[in-house]
Amino acid sequence: MRASTFWSFLLLFVAVFLPGMLAVLISTGRLTTSPAPPLAVVVTLLGLVAVGVAGLANLQIARQTARNLGAVCQALRQASQGEVSSRIPHSERSHVEPVAAAVDQLQDFLRSHFAEVQSSRDQLSLVLNSMVEGVLVVDEQQRVVLLNESAYRLFRLPQGADGRLLFELVRNPQLLLWVTRVLEDRQTVGGEVELLSNPPRVLNLRVLSLPEGGARGAAMVVATDISQLRKLERVRQEFVANASHELKTPLASIKACVETLLEGGAIDDPQFRDRFLGMAAEQADRLDKLVRDLLSLTRIESEGRRDVEPVAIDRLVEQCVGRQLRNAEKRAIGLRIEPPDTPVQPLADEDSLEHVLENLVDNAIKYTNSGGQVTIRWQEEGGAFVLEVEDTGIGIPPQHVPRIFERFYRVDKARSREVGGTGLGLAIVKHLVQSLGGEVSVNSRIGKGTQFRIRLTLAPLP
Ligand code: ADP
Repeated sequence: MRASTFWSFLLLFVAVFLPGMLAVLISTGRLTTSPAPPLAVVVTLLGLVAVGVAGLANLQIARQTARNLGAVCQALRQASQGEVSSRIPHSERSHVEPVAAAVDQLQDFLRSHFAEVQSSRDQLSLVLNSMVEGVLVVDEQQRVVLLNESAYRLFRLPQGADGRLLFELVRNPQLLLWVTRVLEDRQTVGGEVELLSNPPRVLNLRVLSLPEGGARGAAMVVATDISQLRKLERVRQEFVANASHELKTPLASIKACVETLLEGGAIDDPQFRDRFLGMAAEQADRLDKLVRDLLSLTRIESEGRRDVEPVAIDRLVEQCVGRQLRNAEKRAIGLRIEPPDTPVQPLADEDSLEHVLENLVDNAIKYTNSGGQVTIRWQEEGGAFVLEVEDTGIGIPPQHVPRIFERFYRVDKARSREVGGTGLGLAIVKHLVQSLGGEVSVNSRIGKGTQFRIRLTLAPLP
């Protein structure tokens, strides 16, 4: 409090703290002896009112600012959790506009960054899932952290394998050993493993160490299914072994006959000579048939799909029966043709169909005892052309039926050889029918007979 020389009375100064400001109130005091001029009193009062109003306004602004900063904080908190879509509303931006604008910019940047990350992730998963190789990544604890669809298929994994321990999912000691070794030594290992399943699968595995830091996983398994390759290799090895064996047998017989004739002086004995020469000729015929069948099979397999056209099946069947008639008569087997009431034709390649028919009728005669019957019929069935060769022969035991179309597979080797079989006839039939776009099937009952059915495309009516 001090006396004002200007106003000639005492003035009381009061300093008040209001949020955001320091207000100074001035009050007159009746501490002077001279009366206060009326103007001075009015000004003082107005000043007091103005300070009061300014204080209230500042209080309001401070509250609003605090609220809006809260909204900014909330937006930043959401952004830190990856939620960048919501903008700070207009009503909550006053007094904090520059900060809100900076938050907007940050959100825009994060949004485009997240979009880039997502698109890279989508691309990675597209690439991984379009791979035929199985890819599986595990972390240091051997927990699966990444895998593609091929990995699910090749390792037969249950859904939701991500995040589970590898040993719970794949029970192959070799794979688990390799993964452990890679995690310890950081060296690439791998090889072939056979997984137990039906049919068993052979996988070629490569287990690699992933670079440390950055990547989540520590070891990556890349699996390629080589079951089919191994199967084909096995089939080829078996084929070569079988073919060699089949060729060796008649060759050995011919050699033995010739040696006997030369060494023992049997060549001078007309009776012995004729017998051994006859045996050698028979084996040479067998060898010739075997080589011809092998060449046919190789050619059919390499040629692939045939061009087809309507084939006059009735003429083809009659010609076949004509060729087989003597053979059938020798064994007292009847050959019967049963054409359909309404003539139909297949779409086929004539030579191939002739070969198929010849092999089936030849087999039917070979595996039917004297007095039996072989019937050839054809008809339209369910929009397809069906040719049947049926006999009343020895039949095929059910356990052999699935394998009779394999090369060199014979139910009774001795009987097949005795009747001049090579074991390749049905393999040739199957490949030829497939090359015509058709199917072959068999029905058989032991001691009752066998029926082979060929299904081909029906030729349109002329
Ligand atoms: P093969 O030259 O030995 O006859 P195929 O491939 O023609 O060879 O036939 C394979 C095997 O299928 C034969 O060895 C025989 O055991 C059996 N088989 C084929 N056709 C008949 C049939 N019509 N009746 C009984 N068994 C048959």
